[in-house]
Amino acid sequence: MTTGEIKRIIIIGAGQAGGETAQRLRQGGFAGDITLIGEEPAAPYQRPPLSKAYLKGELPMERLLLRPPSVYAEEHVTFVSPVKAVWIDRASRKVRVEGGRELPYDALVLATGARPRKLPLVGADLEGVHLFRTAADADAVRPSLVAGKKLIVIGAGYIGLEVAAVARQLGLEVTIVETAVRPLARVTSPEVAGFFLDEHTRQGVRFVLGGQPALIKGKDRVTGVALADGGDLPADIVIAGIGVTPETTLAQHCGLSVDNGVVTDAACRTSDPNIFAIGDCAARPMAHYDNRVCRLESVHNAVEGAKIVAAIITGAKPHAVEAPWFWSDQYDLKLQIAGLFQGYDHVVFRGVMADRSFAAFYYKGDRLIAVDAVNRPGEYLGAKMLIQTGRTIAQDVIADESKPMKELVAAAR
Ligand code: NAP
Repeated sequence: MTTGEIKRIIIIGAGQAGGETAQRLRQGGFAGDITLIGEEPAAPYQRPPLSKAYLKGELPMERLLLRPPSVYAEEHVTFVSPVKAVWIDRASRKVRVEGGRELPYDALVLATGARPRKLPLVGADLEGVHLFRTAADADAVRPSLVAGKKLIVIGAGYIGLEVAAVARQLGLEVTIVETAVRPLARVTSPEVAGFFLDEHTRQGVRFVLGGQPALIKGKDRVTGVALADGGDLPADIVIAGIGVTPETTLAQHCGLSVDNGVVTDAACRTSDPNIFAIGDCAARPMAHYDNRVCRLESVHNAVEGAKIVAAIITGAKPHAVEAPWFWSDQYDLKLQIAGLFQGYDHVVFRGVMADRSFAAFYYKGDRLIAVDAVNRPGEYLGAKMLIQTGRTIAQDVIADESKPMKELVAAAR
């Protein structure tokens, strides 16, 4: 089917990727039927604030919504929720939803996201033990975040560290248990991870690194976490942030190619040309990284996928693909990341960690591949632009703070 013949689009998943796709299709002039299927009751909302301002109680749910819920009806987007899509019949191009209703499509967009990993431990279902992914998860946690209570966070990724920062600011006693020997092992270098470890420690967070949780203790409610080495940590509340797995069940059942995410080409097309996959659930070749196939878990990636799919369906000119970017807020620290650091062989610093304002530039050979900037928006933006345009700055030059970043970027080749 050519894109001009597409009259009915179904988007499964009403997170950032799904919501943005519906919006961009209409903005791009697509006049056919759009059905957006969401498993959560709320209209599409942003997840990043859940482990930051929303958890702290500083941001109401209305402010998380991508767009006012009334917009969907105004734009004739059929938003159905909470509804689970349970089957895709590729031969007759139909999606079956819970209850048996079948919805026909010409093009289907999978934006099914990811599921938080569950603690594989006895006691993981006790009251007071939480996963953290949705607004409902954050709502369930928030009433327990009371000064003086003991919180154990399992996992020192972004979820773990951001939740720990909020909990410390609210006056809880916080211990983080992480199986790796450092925090943020999946997403940054040992140097930058060490900086965040020190900051959290200074803020009063206790770390058990290389720790293996063995059992969640308690009768009806959690009372603690037992560690494999015999350690015993008391707890009033446990929050697990131990990573996510891409939600690929539907794709697998209907025989699409899946390998740590639904595999797509650069145009987000799956192994079935009538089905696209975007956001956390999908893996596609990355233009700035030798077309290496990656599955990224980020807002930028969700929006990028939505832009690509909407442009293809509406016949718009494809936009210039942006380099990946991410961010994290912890205490008064804003970490901004551009690019993918995996595979770097050198890291060069501009500024010093003791000032709590520095940037770490990651190089592979002479090529700049990523930056972690802490309270350094200029370095972040400059490096992002360089990565995007395939330019670089020599390592000794970038470290020289006497030269403004803007000048270096302007002179870069
Ligand atoms: P994550 O970044 O994968 O970190 C999870 C950490 O938990 C890893 O270090 C993991 O170690 C560790 N772990 C796994 N099993 C464990 C166990 N049984 N006991 C102790 N530690 C264990 O995932 P996350 O922090 O849960 O975040 C989930 C998703 O939300 C990710 O997609 C993340 O990018 C996204 N998120 C992003 C932001 C942001 O960009 N600012 C903020 C919040 C969430 P191994 O790697 O060795 O398994």
